[in-house]
Amino acid sequence: MAPRALSLRELAERLRILEERVARLEAKRAPPGDGRAASAPPRAGPRCEGCGLPLRKRRGRCAECGRPLA
Ligand SMILES: [Zn+2]
Repeated sequence: MAPRALSLRELAERLRILEERVARLEAKRAPPGDGRAASAPPRAGPRCEGCGLPLRKRRGRCAECGRPLA
C-alpha cells in the first residue's frame, strides 16, 4: 500500500476491525505456548466505549481518553 494520508472513514474501519480482533482475543484463551495464556483471568466490568480500556471514571469522564460518560 502506498504511503498516504488515511481518510477518517478508513481509520474508522481499521479501528472497527481491530476492536473486533481484540474482542475475540479477550474472549478466547491465547493459544498454547503463547505467553498470554498464563495471564490473569479476563476482567469483568464496564469498558470505555472510546478507548476500550477498563473504565476508570474521573470527574465524569474516562480517565484514559477523556470521553464523557453517558
Ligand atoms: Zn476511554
